[in-house]
Amino acid sequence: MSEQPTSAAPEASSPRLRVAPSPTGDPHVGTAYMSLFNLAFARQQGGRFLLRIEDTDRARFQADSEQQVYDTLHWLGLTWDEGPDVGGPFAPYRQSERLDTYRPYVERLLDEGKAYYCYCSGERLTQMREMQQKTKQPTGYDRLCHGKTREERAELPGFSEKDPVVRMFIPDDAPLTFEDLIRGTVSAPRPDDQVILKADGFPTYHMAVVVDDHEMGITHVVRGEEWISSTPKHILLYQWLGLEPPKFAHMPLLRNADKSKISKRKNPAARLTWFREEGYLPEALVNFLALLAYPPVIEEDGTEREVFTFREFSEGFDWKKVNPVGPIFDLKKLDWLNGVYIRELDLGDFTSRLLPFLERDEILSGNPSLGELGRLKAVAELIQTRIAHLNEASALVRPFFVADDALEIADDARGQLKEDAGQVLDAALAALGDIDDHGTGVLGTDSGWNAGAIEAALRESIVEGLGIKPKFAFGPLRTAVSGQRISPPLFESMEILGKTSTLSRLRGLRDSL
Ligand code: GLU
Repeated sequence: MSEQPTSAAPEASSPRLRVAPSPTGDPHVGTAYMSLFNLAFARQQGGRFLLRIEDTDRARFQADSEQQVYDTLHWLGLTWDEGPDVGGPFAPYRQSERLDTYRPYVERLLDEGKAYYCYCSGERLTQMREMQQKTKQPTGYDRLCHGKTREERAELPGFSEKDPVVRMFIPDDAPLTFEDLIRGTVSAPRPDDQVILKADGFPTYHMAVVVDDHEMGITHVVRGEEWISSTPKHILLYQWLGLEPPKFAHMPLLRNADKSKISKRKNPAARLTWFREEGYLPEALVNFLALLAYPPVIEEDGTEREVFTFREFSEGFDWKKVNPVGPIFDLKKLDWLNGVYIRELDLGDFTSRLLPFLERDEILSGNPSLGELGRLKAVAELIQTRIAHLNEASALVRPFFVADDALEIADDARGQLKEDAGQVLDAALAALGDIDDHGTGVLGTDSGWNAGAIEAALRESIVEGLGIKPKFAFGPLRTAVSGQRISPPLFESMEILGKTSTLSRLRGLRDSL
């Protein structure tokens, strides 16, 4: 008789929740979505939220994935109280370091006849499955190994010399329904004789999740709806081991507009790192993920408010309000929210959030000078209302950080220049040349060179003087100073560039015509 597993679970006073990603590549957006709902409830209840790395699938394991999980969840502010990186009372929190913990549980199930060794080769299992499908039989393990010793089994075909796996012996009366905090009573199909210990000595997810949720004192298991069909197996394991199961809440899966599952293979937006690269704000993404399965805030006057903070979400959190129907992952909604959040940032915050993008796109170094930061802040003010993603900033900011003679004129910008472009540029050079400039080129100084004076001079000479409509009058000037068809507001841009740069750019385009 093997040792009885001892319980390390604490007294269930306050809730303990967890997110349990498998490090199989770039973290899935579902990991953030699950973390958010777990965390909202844990914080509301004054409970604990922990991160467990479920790395028992060695074939799909990817070494850098764990760090990406940490980085992306930290970026979103969805942080944990216990985990492999921060430790905690139930360490280790990485399943590959807990193999000795699972062993006695498996031994006990074997000793009690609840589980059995299976020696079938992979080929035999494949053939069996194909035959079952062909003959329209229910699929599932046929229990050839059940009740046989290794020697007895070795006499029969399809025997594998490798170490055996261990399977659950699912009884005919296995419980198939359970209570779900979101869905009420849920029923699931009868499980197959699930493998719980693999030939490599690693438990499968099903064994490890039950043991760890118990050992780590998890009171609420909040996970994706794809695990509903596994829950009866887990409940059976709890029963066999004489353990109290946690409460379950199965979150609706995130779906595309055509109702298909969001997958990392098909949707770039399934990768959590994508949102960061694209310049979404973490607070916008958190708000968006909450709204996927949760209603807007209802104000006192009855109106709905979709923009809310994590704190508000957590304080009012109620499982009953979670919508069990698979939400559509509508990026347009996220774009809208992102714009709202970008505009709400104070200017300094907005400016510093641009820095990683400008560094990535080689516009500024990782250590910009005070002068560069001052100029960036002035440009940032011009673009804050104009972008929906932070990564749109680079194209708008770049012209302010290149030398005048290195400014490239985009083909589409050059292509739309009309015949009168030369005339417009000449008039602008003359008019702007007359503006008294004793300033520094920093917005807001009381130099004569400022947006108001620039605009007045240009209108007078080009719109009134040459009789060209404003719509056409300023296109060539925009192209000259930014190289682009689309740029931050022209007069303010000229003010930031300063007189010398502005004139040199106007002359540069003029000479190239
Ligand atoms: N490792 C599982 C996953 O990546 C966890 C499922 C659960 O939360 O039980 O989805």
